[in-house]
Amino acid sequence: MTKPTELFGIHLFNDDAMRRTLPESVYQKLQHTIRDGKTLDSAIADTVAQAMKTWAQSLGATHYTHWFQPMTGRTGEKHEAFLTLDNEGRPIELFSGKNLTIGEPDASSFPTGGLRATFEARGYTAWDCTSPAFIKETNGGKTLCIPTAFCSYNGEALDMKTPLLRSMQALEEAAKRILALFGDPPKRVLPTVGAEQEYFLIDKRLYQQRKDLIYTGRTLFGAKPPKGQELSDHYFGSIRRQIANFMRDIDIELWKLGIVAKTRHYEVAPGQYELAPLFATVNIATDQNQLIMEVLEEVANRYDLVCLLHEKPFSYFNGSGKHNNWSLMTSDGVNLFEPGDTPHANLQFLLFFVAVVSAVDRYADLLRLSAATYSNDLRLGMQEAPPAIISLFVGEQMRDILNQIEAGALLSSKQADHLDTGVVTLPKMLKDVTDRNRTSPFAFTGNKFEFRMVGSSESIAEPNIVLNTIVADRLNAYADELTHSLHLIYDIKRLLQREVQQHKRILFDGNGYSEEWVQEAKKRELGIYPTTIDVLPCLLAEKNMEVFMKHRVFTRSEILSRYEVRVNHYITYAQIEANTMVNMMEKDILPAVLRYIREVASAYNQVCQAGFERKALRLSQRLGHLLHLYDEGSRLTQQLQGLLSQRQRDPITFELAKSYQDQVLPLMKALREIADAMECLVPRDSWPFPTYGDLVFRS
Ligand code: ADP
Ligand code: MG
Repeated sequence: MTKPTELFGIHLFNDDAMRRTLPESVYQKLQHTIRDGKTLDSAIADTVAQAMKTWAQSLGATHYTHWFQPMTGRTGEKHEAFLTLDNEGRPIELFSGKNLTIGEPDASSFPTGGLRATFEARGYTAWDCTSPAFIKETNGGKTLCIPTAFCSYNGEALDMKTPLLRSMQALEEAAKRILALFGDPPKRVLPTVGAEQEYFLIDKRLYQQRKDLIYTGRTLFGAKPPKGQELSDHYFGSIRRQIANFMRDIDIELWKLGIVAKTRHYEVAPGQYELAPLFATVNIATDQNQLIMEVLEEVANRYDLVCLLHEKPFSYFNGSGKHNNWSLMTSDGVNLFEPGDTPHANLQFLLFFVAVVSAVDRYADLLRLSAATYSNDLRLGMQEAPPAIISLFVGEQMRDILNQIEAGALLSSKQADHLDTGVVTLPKMLKDVTDRNRTSPFAFTGNKFEFRMVGSSESIAEPNIVLNTIVADRLNAYADELTHSLHLIYDIKRLLQREVQQHKRILFDGNGYSEEWVQEAKKRELGIYPTTIDVLPCLLAEKNMEVFMKHRVFTRSEILSRYEVRVNHYITYAQIEANTMVNMMEKDILPAVLRYIREVASAYNQVCQAGFERKALRLSQRLGHLLHLYDEGSRLTQQLQGLLSQRQRDPITFELAKSYQDQVLPLMKALREIADAMECLVPRDSWPFPTYGDLVFRS
């Protein structure tokens, strides 16, 4: 096998490739934008395009595409062949500067939330040169992919990337203003993110027998198998051969794309795994996470597996999330959330730290919203994932320092102890200054913050747009207050004290899964939003619209459009799931149960005819039970179908989405209970699709 260092980045038009293929002056101009954040000199586009095409062709690419991230949360691409004809009708391969920089996909079918009516369907994609182009390899061949932003004719964002880039600018500007208080600010300040990705793998043959998995990505039916995840015997288990080969291929594919896949292991639930890459600048990390999801799905297919990225593929087993590790890094390589040995004396660090505390408290609803989707509702607050209440865990050392700030006397920092295992031959280990708290939705983990609510299938763009914007807002407010201060140190301490006093209610280090926490959170008047429907209206709250508009991350109409897209998304997902349930009941489950009823009834008849009627008590009970379930199942299916056809005529509004939550979801739950009870009674070979035991333990 080729060494990782030799594979690394061979499918990426990275700095190295640019240096090799571009004239020095063009390379410098491009770097001016990539590294220094300056406007792109459009005169170099043709030269860069030429170099990119030659590079891509040498690796076997025949097509190119503008790769973008519409509001579906996944990616869009439309391939164009390099091949065309010249004036004399001879075949040539072309890729111009214009092809590179601007695209006009006919993208009228992507969600736009009213920003663009279908009759004015123009949408543009624009080259984002800060994220390197790459080559995607599939069965269909190789394609040069150019990361792009996607916007409307009027420049309104129709994607995830545009607002993410805007939020990075806002944060950089604000962070530099704070750093200027302490000396010469660095050239750049950029947020960094490492996103840990959880996923399930199941057998493709089994997957194909379940319409719910095919249409919705999760199981809508399924009784509890005899064994669940109680033994925790899967977590960090040794990796069996097929999976090991799969993981090796994943690493290879990701390394080629310049993604440093670092860790891989079994997760808690059977069939569940995790992959974590090395962190990168948030824009790149977001693109990489999209690619990781695509590569997982593609490589699974090679091994006759299916990768499920859904937040909750199975009841009774843990769901999947994405841990979004976020920090701020300067171009000099300084992590602004690195506390150092004496954090209490590091006022610059404390300003950044307290800005996060304050931002998370003020905009807890926006953070919650950034992880709110129809499918993530199934996972949050379920004793396996963070509760749906935002709180911040800062660890012992920082908690102590915040207490000192509040008391107005910053004196000392608790230091780390040595770990005592009681075994002489084990190495002496320095403990981290704080333990972890797995139940916390938002935690300081030593030199970065980890947001753990994000769903596994979601784009990480949204949570990071929110994080960047709300922290930018606080830093800006602090800079306004401190820039002309005559007693800087005194004023910083006063500001810190005030902020901690105002926002300490967001700090929590207890058990986030407990019922007491819900009561305590109510007492603290923290926002409690169990579901997407509960939190969705917060997007339109004046303070939230304002923070986005003030920092030029979203315009008012962009916010309204995103609200509409989310409402639509919720309704569509609920509809698809409910329709799938009706379909599976009518086509598969009810007919199977009816066949079994016939079998039991005929057995009962025969037994009675043979004169054993009085011994057939259980048999007749079983028949009665089956008939009852059949009746209930049919009734609920009809009711669900009736409700759906009523709702399908209603206009798409928040009220409609809410009525899905209030009326359709409970009916789906009741229907599932009946079907799962049927599954427990019907023999194995009569049940129409693989059960949980098959899916989870045989895959
Ligand atoms: P943990 O054990 O706390 O989960 P890891 O070292 O395994 O920490 O890192 C988890 C993720 O956090 C990885 O993707 C890692 O690259 C990322 N990470 C580490 N440092 C930073 C940082 N400064 N900024 C953003 N992400 C980071
Ligand atoms: Mg983690």
